[in-house]
Amino acid sequence: MTVPYEQLKNDFTILQQTVNDEPLVYLDNAATTQKPESVLRALELYYQTSNANVHRGVHTLAERATAQYEGTREKVRRFINARETAEVLYTRGTTTGLNWLAKSLGDLIIEPGDEIVISFMEHHSNIIPWQQVAQNKQATLKYIELTEDGQLDMADVRAKITEKTKIVSLAHVSNVLGVVNPIKEITQMVHDVDGVMVVDGAQAVPHMPVDVQDLNADFYAFSGHKMLAPTGIGVLYGKRSWLEKMEPQEFGGEMIDFVGLQDSTWKELPWKFEAGTPNIAGAIGLGAAIDYLEKVGMREIMDHEQNMMAYVMPRLEEIDGLTIFGPKNIEDRTGVIAFNIDGIHPHDVATAMDMEGVAVRAGHHCAQPLMNYMNQPATARASFYLYNTLEDADQFIQALKATKEFFL
Ligand code: PLP
Repeated sequence: MTVPYEQLKNDFTILQQTVNDEPLVYLDNAATTQKPESVLRALELYYQTSNANVHRGVHTLAERATAQYEGTREKVRRFINARETAEVLYTRGTTTGLNWLAKSLGDLIIEPGDEIVISFMEHHSNIIPWQQVAQNKQATLKYIELTEDGQLDMADVRAKITEKTKIVSLAHVSNVLGVVNPIKEITQMVHDVDGVMVVDGAQAVPHMPVDVQDLNADFYAFSGHKMLAPTGIGVLYGKRSWLEKMEPQEFGGEMIDFVGLQDSTWKELPWKFEAGTPNIAGAIGLGAAIDYLEKVGMREIMDHEQNMMAYVMPRLEEIDGLTIFGPKNIEDRTGVIAFNIDGIHPHDVATAMDMEGVAVRAGHHCAQPLMNYMNQPATARASFYLYNTLEDADQFIQALKATKEFFL
């Protein structure tokens, strides 16, 4: 381990507190992540020194704000290895990106009888927008089956992707099962039938190196708040060839070239998709978050989470009556563990864990079709990130054991 993770935790003031008289162990990172001081400082500094609207002014503050806002777009481009900044659209988050896409691509390429393919492990944000398109266009929405240990069933992937397939939209990493899906391989299959590949990268970009050119998917959406940045900022990457053909979904200031009385024209990429005053501070915060992640190193972060899993999983398996969902093989997953304990409701598990200072989540994790598929009304979920330490893992295991003793 080359990164001093114990020290790194000191960069996060929020993690220095006690909860119910115990040191806080934050394991709800799949929901949202904490922000390091450098991100908070970037927001403060922006408002103290550079706050102005972007693109419109020629005064010093406007130029400063624009330079920082567009500078972050270049950072994002480099971070995900997009070809050009024109392919990096700012959004409010993954949900916004997927909604824009579904509407815009739906209008452009979906005809009655066409097929859209997703999987049983998708987050609601990657289900409902496609349901809407399918309903509005009389298209069919198909679901890829999962294997026993929660991976995409590749035989079913091959069966579901047909000549009728227009769009395939899949999570890169599941927010419940932690499984990493073979996006590059599936993208090739989708392109072989002239379909469009969309990736929900909300749980991947924060946790591993992502190279959109290497994956070759047509679109890739993710959220800033799951990667140390503020809420309300996200990114939709799209290939220029598609973005040029697509219509924006929001209209108004910032995105126009010329406005006539009856008709208007749009700015060039990426701005034609970004109507209204954007989340300037959020974007600058995202830039600071990327700086932080890059300083640690994305491969380091991925290895750290796998080391945490190698430590935690065998200890969880020793607990009688505890079921872990998703792949048993650590190489196939990131730091997300959904689990249940026989005889204790997951909400009770989460409440009891909180009494021990450990923040885990319980519920359907915005994946009701997956819960039904697994025959579970809900699960508990612990999700680790770069600032979690082996000490955190010990406190988590201890709290689980105490919870079990309390209830059973
Ligand atoms: N997709 C996945 C896999 C997620 O985990 C999440 C968030 O939990 C989303 C999409 C939605 O992200 P956001 O709420 O930031 O738009």
